[in-house]
Amino acid sequence: MSKEIASELKQVFDWIDKNQEEFIADLQTLVQQPSVSAQNLGLFECADLLQKMMKNDGLPCDKYELPGGPPVILGDVPSSKNPKKLMCYAHYDVQPPEPLDKWIFPPFSATRSEGRIWGRGATDNKSGVLSFMKAVKAWKAIADDLPVSIKFMFEGEEEVGSTHLGPFVRDNPDLFRCDAAHCLDGGMNLSVPVPEIDLGLKSILYVELIAHGAKSDVHSLNAPLVPQPAWELVRALNTLVDENRHILIEGWYDGLWQLGEEEIAQLKDKVCRVDVDAMKEDFGIKEFALGRDNFEAMKARSYEPTCNIAGLTAGYQGPGDKTIVPCEASAKIDFRLPPLIDASKALGKLKKHLAEHGFSDIEVRSVLGDDIEPPYKISVKEDISQAVIEAAELVYGYPPIVNGVSAEGTILRHVWMPTVLTGFAQPDCNLHAPNESVSISTYIQGIKFAAAIMWAYGKM
Ligand SMILES: [Zn+2]
Repeated sequence: MSKEIASELKQVFDWIDKNQEEFIADLQTLVQQPSVSAQNLGLFECADLLQKMMKNDGLPCDKYELPGGPPVILGDVPSSKNPKKLMCYAHYDVQPPEPLDKWIFPPFSATRSEGRIWGRGATDNKSGVLSFMKAVKAWKAIADDLPVSIKFMFEGEEEVGSTHLGPFVRDNPDLFRCDAAHCLDGGMNLSVPVPEIDLGLKSILYVELIAHGAKSDVHSLNAPLVPQPAWELVRALNTLVDENRHILIEGWYDGLWQLGEEEIAQLKDKVCRVDVDAMKEDFGIKEFALGRDNFEAMKARSYEPTCNIAGLTAGYQGPGDKTIVPCEASAKIDFRLPPLIDASKALGKLKKHLAEHGFSDIEVRSVLGDDIEPPYKISVKEDISQAVIEAAELVYGYPPIVNGVSAEGTILRHVWMPTVLTGFAQPDCNLHAPNESVSISTYIQGIKFAAAIMWAYGKM
């Protein structure tokens, strides 16, 4: 099924196979260095280690200190025949390993067992970091040159929202400028053993709505005398969406990406090839919300703006009864903003809506800050989209699953370039959970995938 592979690329693949013990050992070394961004643990040490490993591999790189955050590692490896520059983005920070007692092997042991490397970050995303490095090393070993100029971009706070990266990119755009970018922090599908490819990003507005009442809880005999924040909040929430989940905030859908033939074709292909029904089983539901069929469900998942109540808190919920009027009620709400909704205006529209419906007393806090990343979307016809698709088919033997949008990204609002998220995380690799691991063969294939993307993009 796999297309014929160009002879130079074939040599690169063979070199990767031959040198896999080195790649495995390096992955173990990198996983053994804890780098937990949520706990500010080991990030500087990990950046130093990574820089040292890159220098060992003959890859020039610089470490940039971000005020208040962990360093960013940037490295440029020019191609003598192709000045077009491709950014390789990955992150060296990891999720916290807790709960520790659930791990079979200690989370930073990087134990090799059953054909896998076990440890926090083994998949997410230290194997991604090394795939880029080893792919470039392979090209240099075989061709003494690269098919395209490469910029490495490895950050250390992806798992906590990259908060310090945005201002740094804003102040140093030239450090980041490339013709395209891709990221190996995505996954493979459950039913088809081939990477998924995401051509865009949904953004998120995460707010807390707080209704205030008396200065403390009041005996409910006095309910006629004091404000009732719980009811106030319920009424306010009820104005946000209708029973079909359509968002009722004025102008919310302005700019929304209208699906064209290419997006419809991608959705149809996905519904045919992916076991969408398995999702229902996974959720423990009989049918998708609003009676949506598989196509409509996948379309909504990618392209529909959503307003979700993530948490709702008020008053007494313990055993027995407690007759109070609570003094406060609050809700956490996430709005997913698909392309190309203007994320910078969303919070203002929400506040205006509440005020116009008589809820100006309800406090609105933006949980992730006011500076929201914009959603983005690129065409499947972009060179980088085509290159990643071609590379996936070459390495995995099947056409990849192409999604319209997914999530991730901070750089693009300051330096625009067409960007594709893809990756080789397997459904069983326990991302963000105890016993994270990567299968060695998946990792080695991932290095080939990175090498093939460089090749396919270079020739476009
Ligand atoms: Zn990740």
